[in-house]
Amino acid sequence: MTEPLIYDIGSPGRIGARLPDCDVPETPIPADLLRAELDLPEVSELQVVRHFTRLSTLNYSIDKGFYPLGSCTMKYNPKLNEDTARLPGFAALHPLTDGEGSQGALALMYQLQNWLAEISGFKAVSLAPAAGAQGEFAGILMIRKYHLDRGDTKRTKILIPNTAHGTNPATVTMAGFTAVELPADEMGDVDLTALRAACDDTVAGMMITVPNTLGLFESKILDVIKAVHDCGGLMYMDGANMNALMGIVKPGELGFDVMHYNLHKTFSTPHGGGGPGSGPVGVGDKLKPFLPGPVVQIVEEADEENETPLYGMVMPEKSIGRLKAFHGNFGMHVRAFTYIRIHGDEGIKSISRHAALNANYIRAKLQDTYHIPYNRYCGHEFVLEGHFEGVENVHALDISKRLMDYGFHPPTNYFPLLVPEALMIEPTETEDKATLDEFIDAMKKIAAEAHENPDLLRSAPHTAPVSRLDEVRAAKQLVLCCRPIPEWAG
Ligand SMILES: *Cc1c(COP(=O)(O)O)cnc(C)c1O
Repeated sequence: MTEPLIYDIGSPGRIGARLPDCDVPETPIPADLLRAELDLPEVSELQVVRHFTRLSTLNYSIDKGFYPLGSCTMKYNPKLNEDTARLPGFAALHPLTDGEGSQGALALMYQLQNWLAEISGFKAVSLAPAAGAQGEFAGILMIRKYHLDRGDTKRTKILIPNTAHGTNPATVTMAGFTAVELPADEMGDVDLTALRAACDDTVAGMMITVPNTLGLFESKILDVIKAVHDCGGLMYMDGANMNALMGIVKPGELGFDVMHYNLHKTFSTPHGGGGPGSGPVGVGDKLKPFLPGPVVQIVEEADEENETPLYGMVMPEKSIGRLKAFHGNFGMHVRAFTYIRIHGDEGIKSISRHAALNANYIRAKLQDTYHIPYNRYCGHEFVLEGHFEGVENVHALDISKRLMDYGFHPPTNYFPLLVPEALMIEPTETEDKATLDEFIDAMKKIAAEAHENPDLLRSAPHTAPVSRLDEVRAAKQLVLCCRPIPEWAG
C-alpha cells in the first residue's frame, strides 16, 4: 500500500476550520461523548479534501476507462438519464400517491411497457421484477401456473442448455422444477438430437439464453422452439443479452412465450454495486393473464372532454401476484424510458449493430494470438481461452491482472464454465475504434510477454494500489478500518 493514511499526514495543532470568537455562552460537550483515546489526525481542510479525492479515484470505473466485462454489458450510463430520474415530479413522488396524482408516472410506465413489447415482439409487459433473476423467476412461475391452470400436473422438468447463464438453473430449482441440462454441439448451439430425446410430456418448458453465454446466436433456434412446443412445453428466453438483438430480431415473433429484459444491461440504467436493477418480463398471448402485477393500463380512453387517457394500476386476471412492494424500481423505468426515447427506432437498431460490430472486431483481431473456441460470428460478446501453448502456469487470471497494468478493466474470468480458462470480452457499442485498438494492442503485448517473461504476468498487477487480494477472505472477514484495530475497540 503506497497511499499515505490520513493519520500519517496530520501534524499537531493543524486544524480544518477557523471560526470567529464565540459571542454566545459556550455549552460544554457532555464528558461521555469525549473520548481522549481516539487518536484523531490533525489536518487542514485542503489535506482532507485531497486525501479523499485521491482515494475516490483509486477504484477503476467505466467513467475512467474501457470496461470489457462480459455478460454484464457494463455500458455507460448517459448523464441525461440521471437528470430525468431526478426531476422532482418523479423522484419525490410518494409510492402511495393516488392514481389521479400520479398520472405522469403511470403514463411513462405505460409507454415503457409498450416500447419494450414493441422491441421484443411480445403482447404485454410487466415492469414489476427488480432484477434479471427476478424476471426469470416470474417467467418460470408463469409457466408453472399456465400448466396447472390447464390441470396438467405431470410437467416437472425445465430443459436448460449448458450455455445458459448460471441464474437459469437456479431459477428453475427455486420454482420447484427439476433442471435438465442439455449439451452444446461443436458449433456452440444446443444439440438438437439431445433436445428431441429429452422432449416429452413431463417437460414444462425450456429456458434458453440468446445470444448464449458464448455470445452466439442459436442458429437453429426455430427448430429448438418447435421441438419444445410440439411436446407441450413453453419457451423462456433469457433476454439479458438483448443488447445484441434490438431492432434485428424480435423473440416474440420467433415463437418465444416469455422473456425478461435487463434494463440495467440493455437499456443503460446503472449496474453494479448490487442494484437497484430492473428485469421486466414480456409475454405472448398464452401467458398474458399470468403476468406479475400490477401493470399499467388505460382505464378510461381519451375523449372530447379529456385529451389524455386515464391510466391505472391493474392486477392481471390470473396473476402470479406481486414480486415486491409497489411497482418495481421506478427510477430505473425513467432512465430506460429516457434512453429509448433519445435513440428512437433507428438509434436502438444501431446500438445492437455496433455492439456486435465491436465484439467481432476484437474477436477477428485476436484470433491469431489467442485460442477462440466456437470461433464464428458473435453477438455482443465472445469468449477466448486465457492460456498459451508451451507456456506453463500462465492462467486467465494472470492475463487479467496484467491488463490492469495497461489501464484496462479485466474481462469476465472463468465464465462460462464450458470453456477452460475462459475470458469473456464484451466491449459494448459505446467504445470507439481507437479504444478497441488500444485494448487489442495490450492483449497482443501480453501474449508476447507470456512467452518471453511469464513472471511479469504471474506477479501482475504492478501499478494498482493493492496487488492480488485474498478475495474470499476479504469478503468473509471484512475489515473497514484503515489501520490495525486498536485494542480498546475490541
Ligand atoms: C446478468 C444476467 C442475468 C441476471 O440478471 P441480474 O439482474 O443480475 O439478476 C441473467 N441472464 C443473463 C444472460 C445475464 O447476463
